[in-house]
Amino acid sequence: MNAAAEIITPSQETQDFLARKHQLLINGEWVDPASQERTDIHDPATEAFLASVPVGGPEEVDRAVAAARAALKGEWSKITTHERSRLIWRLADELEAHLNLATELEVLDNGMPRSIATYAIAAAGINHLRYYAGWATKIHGQTIPVSPGGAQNGETLTYTQREPIGVVGAITPWNAPLPMVVLKLAPCLAAGCTMVLKPAEITPFSALLLGELSRKVGIPPGVFNIVLGHGSEAGAALAAHDDVDKIAFTGSTEVGKIILKQAASNLKKVTLELGGKSPVVVFPDADIERVIPGATRGAFFLQGQNCMAGTRLFVHDDVYDQVVEGVAAMATAFKIGPGLAPDTEMGPLISAAQRDTVMGYVEAGKASEADLVCGGETLSGKGYFMQPTIFGQTTMDMKIAKEEIFGPVLCVQKFGDSDLEAIAAETNKTIYGLSGSVWTRDISVAHKMVNLIDSGQVAINCHAAVDSAIPFGGNRQSGWGREFGQEGLEPYLKTKSTTVMF
Ligand code: NDP
Repeated sequence: MNAAAEIITPSQETQDFLARKHQLLINGEWVDPASQERTDIHDPATEAFLASVPVGGPEEVDRAVAAARAALKGEWSKITTHERSRLIWRLADELEAHLNLATELEVLDNGMPRSIATYAIAAAGINHLRYYAGWATKIHGQTIPVSPGGAQNGETLTYTQREPIGVVGAITPWNAPLPMVVLKLAPCLAAGCTMVLKPAEITPFSALLLGELSRKVGIPPGVFNIVLGHGSEAGAALAAHDDVDKIAFTGSTEVGKIILKQAASNLKKVTLELGGKSPVVVFPDADIERVIPGATRGAFFLQGQNCMAGTRLFVHDDVYDQVVEGVAAMATAFKIGPGLAPDTEMGPLISAAQRDTVMGYVEAGKASEADLVCGGETLSGKGYFMQPTIFGQTTMDMKIAKEEIFGPVLCVQKFGDSDLEAIAAETNKTIYGLSGSVWTRDISVAHKMVNLIDSGQVAINCHAAVDSAIPFGGNRQSGWGREFGQEGLEPYLKTKSTTVMF
C-alpha cells in the first residue's frame, strides 16, 4: 500500500475549465455575487490549488428563487412533455460527450478514483437523466367514480392532475458531487419544476459544468439556477425561503434536522437523504469468495465517504476468521493514490478536517476493547490519505460501531446465534436505517432477514445495488422520502382533484 506522490496533469479541457472565471448561474446568465469573498478549492490528493469560486448569500438566493418562480410560470410551463423529455435527454447526451471532463473535475474536486467517477457519472448521471427523461411523458392523474353530495352514479366525474410542486431548493453534499445534483435535477425537470441548487461549497465544479450544459441544450433561463456559497448562509437562506416550495436535501442527519426547522417557515415540503451505518450480515453457508470482495468494496467504496457504506460487518463465528482475514488482505492491498492515476483503487479523504474527524474515531477504536485488524494510520506526504482500517470484535455499545464515521473504517462483530431476530436486533441498534445486505445461500434466511432489518434498501448477496429504477432512501434518522425510480418523482409533484357535476 502506498500513496503515490506523483502529480498527474489533467487534460487541457479540464485545465481550461478550472482556469475560467467561475460565477453563479441565475436566470440563464453567469453572474457575480455582491460579496467579494471567494472559496479556494484544492485537490485533496495533492493539496494543490485548483481554482477559487465566488460565495453567494441570501441576496443571490433571493434573485435565483425569483428567477425560478418566473420560469415556473413562463415558457417552461408551456412546452410539451415531449419537449421536456427531449431537453433532459439532450442534457444526458451533452454530459456523455463531456464525460472525460466531468470525470476529471469530479476526481480533482473530490479525490475519488477515476474509474469510480466515470462509473458514477454514467450510472447516476447520464443514465439517470435518460431514465427520468422517459418519465416526463408518463405523468398523469386518475379518473375516480364518486357520488359527492348524494349525486347519482353517472352524474359526476372526478379527475386528478399531477402538477409540478413548484420551485425546488436543492442542497447537496461533497461525497459524489455530480450524481448528488443529478439525483435531484432529473426528476425535478421531468416533473416540470424549477430549481435553485446550492452544492457543497468545496466541490462546485461538476455542478457548474451541468449549469453550462443546461444552457447549451436550451433549458429555458431560470429553470436551473446555481448559487455557490456556505451552507450556513446560502444553504440556510434557501431552506428558509418563503417562495421555495420544496427542499431536496442530501447531507448529514445533523444538518437535515436544521433544514427541517428552517423549512417550517412556510411549511415547504422536504425530502432528506441523510447518514447511514449499514449492516452486512454474513451467514456460515454464504459464498465466502463473493462475500470478501462484496464486503470490502461495500465498506471502502469512495474511501468510506458513502452513505450506503456497509461499515458494520456481522459475521457468523464459523466463518469469522476467514472473512476478516480475506477482507483485511483485500483492503490492505488497495493501491492508494491520486484519483487521476489509472491504477488507483482508493483516493484521499475530502479534506484535512474530514481526515482528522475520521482519525478521531480511529483513536477511539484503538482505546476501546476492539481489535485493530489493519490500518489505523494516516499516510505521510501531501494529500489527505489514510489506510483502510478494520476493527474486529466490536460491540454495538462502542462509539465506532454506533456513529457514522464517513471514512474508511469497518467495524466487525461476531455472532454465534441462529436466532434471526436476535441478529437483526443487533443490526438495528443504530439511529440509522439506510442500507444493508444479507449473505447466505438459504433463501428462507435471506428473506426473513430482509424483513427484520429496518433499512430502506437491503440487498441479498450483494451490497448497495444502485440503479435509476430502484427506490432509495432511509428509514428512521437516515431520512424522509425516496429518490430513484417512480417513487423518486413523487416528491416533485402535487395532486389537484377536480369534480364535475353534470
Ligand atoms: P453536510 O450536512 O455538512 O452538508 C450537506 C449540504 O448542506 C452542503 O451543501 C452544506 O453546505 C449544506 N449545509 C450545511 N449547513 C447548512 C445549513 N445550516 N443550512 C442549509 N444547508 C447547510 O454533509 P456533508 O457535505 O458533510 O456530507 C456528508 C453527509 O452526507 C454524511 O452524513 C452522509 O451520510 C450524507 N449523505 C447521504 C446520502 C444519502 O443519499 N442518504 C448520500 C451522500 C451523503 P457546505 O458545503 O457549505 O457546508
